[in-house]
Amino acid sequence: MSWEENVRRVEPYVPGEQPKCDNVIKLNTNECPYPPAPGVEAAAHKLVADRLRLYPDTDATKIVDALATYYKVKPEQVFVGVGSDDVLSMVFLTLFHSDKPVLFPDITYSFYDVWAKLYDIPYECILLDEDFCIRKEDYYRPNGGIVIANPNAPTGVFMPLSEIEDILQHNPESVVVVDEAYVDFGATSALPLLEKYENLLIVQTFSKSRAMAGARIGFAIGSEKMIRYINDVKFSVNSYTMSFPVQEIGAEAVKDDAYFREIVDKMIRTREWTKEELSKLGFTFPDSYTNFIFATHRTERAEDIFSYLKSKNIYVRHFKKPRIDNYLRISIGTDEQMQILIDTLKEYLKC
Ligand SMILES: *Cc1c(COP(=O)(O)O)cnc(C)c1O
Repeated sequence: MSWEENVRRVEPYVPGEQPKCDNVIKLNTNECPYPPAPGVEAAAHKLVADRLRLYPDTDATKIVDALATYYKVKPEQVFVGVGSDDVLSMVFLTLFHSDKPVLFPDITYSFYDVWAKLYDIPYECILLDEDFCIRKEDYYRPNGGIVIANPNAPTGVFMPLSEIEDILQHNPESVVVVDEAYVDFGATSALPLLEKYENLLIVQTFSKSRAMAGARIGFAIGSEKMIRYINDVKFSVNSYTMSFPVQEIGAEAVKDDAYFREIVDKMIRTREWTKEELSKLGFTFPDSYTNFIFATHRTERAEDIFSYLKSKNIYVRHFKKPRIDNYLRISIGTDEQMQILIDTLKEYLKC
């Protein structure tokens, strides 16, 4: 017998590539092309190194309070974590402890099944329809929880709030998690439904619309009771997840709503322009409510386009997975970057 027989073996999540060189146009991990709010830089400069001797505030009070004020909920309804990946991981570990399967779509954020396997949670992937839409009726079956990314990734498709509510109404005995990583780019948040549904949990992140993927900040908003359960598990794993500097700069970012709206609007305008240009070049895509476009070309193979773009130092995302392997997920960069992308595609397509 070898020690290896006792090892917990997992097939890890594969994140998008982070190229080591600087001269690339990076449209492969849905980062924001603009810097975070100016106050973030100022707060970073004010940090005093001596403060690092001490452990950070385990309750992350400053950032929790800032989020509670911004979203008009009680601080007791907010859970923060090191990116929404950390938040979702704690959510899976805490809230999905049933013999019945947790349900999520077959095409969605590819971390969900990784956590389910890691924590031995039974799960079932429900097929999206041909247009990559979620059929709410598919979620009327017995389950141990439901996870829906809305808008969905990597498709960009947004499910109307009435359908989220319909799923909540049909599942009063399950936790329904809505992962709103991309909600700020023109979709509608399920936050107002919290008053009516104690079993709803909303997860969001600073990584996309708040331009802070490198800081690793995510959060969940739900009933006080549910947040308490998640905190109990979190404090059983690691009390000091969010570092002191990150708590400071994160709180600062939330305060500058004008800047937040400005960069989000800019990205939406660039997205709409990119949609038009891609259509002219023969691409089709589900209508995107996110900071990326999930596109397929009428005649050219996605993998070939991907390789050509990469040879020109433009990185987009290609998933070698059933049903979506002829699609490219293209993040929205600056206007200049998207112009270069379109010009490069024109070169490739010889049009
Ligand atoms: C990006 C993303 C996350 C994770 O973001 P963090 O950087 O860990 O906050 C979670 N869910 C979806 C659907 C995402 O696209």
